[in-house]
This record gives sequence, structure tokens and C-alpha cells, in this order.
Amino acid sequence: MNNEMPVIYMDNNATTMVAPEVMAAMEPYFGGLYGNPSSMHSFGGQVGKAVANARQQVAELLGCDEDEVIFTSCGTESDSTAILSALRANPERRHIVTSRIEHPAVKNLCENISIFTGHPYRVTMLKVDEEGLIDMDEYAESLRDDTAIVSIMWANNETGVILPVEEMAVMARERGIPFHTDAVQAVGKIPFSLRDSEIDFLSLSGHKLHAPKGIGVLYVKRGTPFAPFLTGGHQEDGRRAGTENVASIVGIGRACQLAADKMDEENGRVKALRDKLENGLLSSIPRSLLNGNKELRLPNTANISFEFVEGESILLHMDRYNICASSGSACTSGSLEPSHVLRAMGVPFTAAHGSIRFSLSVYNTEEEIDTVLEKLPPIIASLREMSPFWPKK
Ligand code: PLP
Repeated sequence: MNNEMPVIYMDNNATTMVAPEVMAAMEPYFGGLYGNPSSMHSFGGQVGKAVANARQQVAELLGCDEDEVIFTSCGTESDSTAILSALRANPERRHIVTSRIEHPAVKNLCENISIFTGHPYRVTMLKVDEEGLIDMDEYAESLRDDTAIVSIMWANNETGVILPVEEMAVMARERGIPFHTDAVQAVGKIPFSLRDSEIDFLSLSGHKLHAPKGIGVLYVKRGTPFAPFLTGGHQEDGRRAGTENVASIVGIGRACQLAADKMDEENGRVKALRDKLENGLLSSIPRSLLNGNKELRLPNTANISFEFVEGESILLHMDRYNICASSGSACTSGSLEPSHVLRAMGVPFTAAHGSIRFSLSVYNTEEEIDTVLEKLPPIIASLREMSPFWPKK
């Protein structure tokens, strides 16, 4: 970190800055408005109204009704709640369908589901092709009479690749199977409405859309059998016990409202910046390649492999200029294993190790893109000079 220079933050799939409007909306609930939303007195009641307002703001972005929105502590809790709830609602079914590219919040739960539940489960982890997409015939074949839940992410956090979850949910519904999607990376970046969809459960996380860390939402379609993850008080209509994290709930509500307002900018200006960055790097740096389907992708994400260099070394060199990006997902960095997502896509070892994820937001500027386009090519060239695998002339 260089305190003389501004930070160029291009790691928004890891976490985002809390928007100033969100901070302002939350502030009163750290101060004078500290009542308990469940209290009978009007001092608490006004706080209860703020929670109700936030629920409405979230419901508007998702295109659902307020009573289908449950506030949780994070995306991970939403994922666990949805999957475990479906298993409890269908105890005689002992099969789960998910994919090899899920975030650890889903992947690790499904891989260890027999330990968590104390019951034997079979788990189908669908393969993806070299562009990160699932074969729909293989998906159709994976759905069985004893499938208790399908859990497929809407957009991948590492590559940004968007999966056809609305279509997959229809196919699951035809076979009477509940469908969950981890939409943590999709919400606020791509428009959709849950009202006409067959998705039963959807997870989202505040800190990926300019609300604080430690607040999430689980959408549960009305009429879907539901078993709470946390049992205790009557909060969230008995579906998630624990006194509400009021300030963060107000924050995620305001963030959802802002995301709806900025959706066009995300898909216009931000996408154009991402394309400029991506095209500039791919054309100026030899042996660089884009990971993931180019079209079916979030507007803010570019995952690029620079062959024969280590992603961690690139990050360290970029850090000298305060350029923040990521190699693999933030959760897997710290391990020398290449990302499970890129491995599932069959990205060769030499390229998977040198992959960098740039993830932009509405706060990025063209000037920042120009700085990265200026600084990164010489960094890659100098690292390759030191690489024993880089063919020297
Ligand atoms: N799912 C996806 C796709 C994510 O990218 C993340 C965070 O990186 C999570 C789930 C976990 O969300 P949280 O950090 O709120 O638990």
C-alpha cells in the first residue's frame, strides 16, 4: 500500500465500498434510533417501520413480494439456510444437484452434507465446459425422483459467467424439485424479476452491492416449505430468529434501491470500461487469454490469464501502484492451489496460475483503466524475464 497514491479498486467481486448514500441512511440507527423493532412502544415501532421499508426496497429490486424476503447475516447463511431447509422438507429424498464451480459457501456444504445432516446423500456436481457453461442435457439427466434440491449459482464470482438459472428452475419445477440459486454476484448487476420465475430460493449478500459486510437476504418463494436455520425468537416471521441488524438492514435496502437506479450505468459505462481494460490487456500482452464465455458474462468482470507468471506475483507488483484485483477468489487465495473454477473449466495449469480477476463498479473511472493499461504490461514482461518457463529468444 502506497499512501502517496490513490487506490485503484478493481476487486468488487470480493467486496465493495459502502456507498455514501447507504452510510447516510444507516447512520441514525447507530445513534438515536436504537429501539428494538419488535418492541410494542412507538420508539421501537419507528425502527420496525425502517426494517419494513428496507424489505420493500429489496423486494422491488428482486421483483418479488415483501413477505418473500428474509434478512440473514450474509450470503453464506442464506445458502446454508436454503439448502438445509429443502433437505429437511424432503427427508426421504437423498440426492442433491449442484455444479463444480459454486462458491465454497455452497460447494463445501454440499461436499460435506452427509456429515452435517448425519444422513447419507449422493451429490451430483455438474461439469462445466471450457467457457464455464453447464451442458443442459447433462443437467436434465441429473434430475431424479429422489433429488431434494438443485443449487446452481446465477453468476460465477471468478469469471462472471452467467448461468441460465431461470430455465434450469423451470426444468426442476417440472420434476417437482426445489431450486436454489446463489445470486450473490448477479444481484444489482443484471436485471431480473422473480415474480414470473420458478426459482424457489435465492441468496444475496449486502457487501457485494455497496452495503456493509454481515448482512444478507434469502428470498423464499411464497408457499415453499421452509425450515429455519436459526430457531429462537419470532423475528422474520419465525423464519430467522435473532434481533435484527437494523442499521445493516436499512443499508441493504438503500443499496438495492441504488442498484436499481444504476443498473443501466452498470450495463453501459461500467461494461464499456471493462471492455476497454480487457481488450487493451489482451492486445498488448502476448500469451494472455480471457477465461469464461465472453458474452454470457457480468458487465463488471474480466478474468484474464497471463501464461507463465504467478498471479500472486502480479498482485504484489500491482500493489505498488495501489491497484487492487484478485487471483482466484478471495476465499481461496492464501493457498497455492489454482482456482477450482478454472480447473473445472480445464484451463491449463500454466494459465490458471497466472489468472487475475478484475471486477469493476460504478465508482471506477476511465483514468483508472488507463493507469492499469499503462502499468500492467511492463509488470508481466519483467516477471516473464524471470520465469524459467518463458521461452527466451
Ligand atoms: N456466493 C458467492 C457467489 C460469493 O461470491 C460470495 C462471496 O464471495 C458468497 C456466496 C458468500 O457471501 P458472504 O461473504 O456474504 O457470506
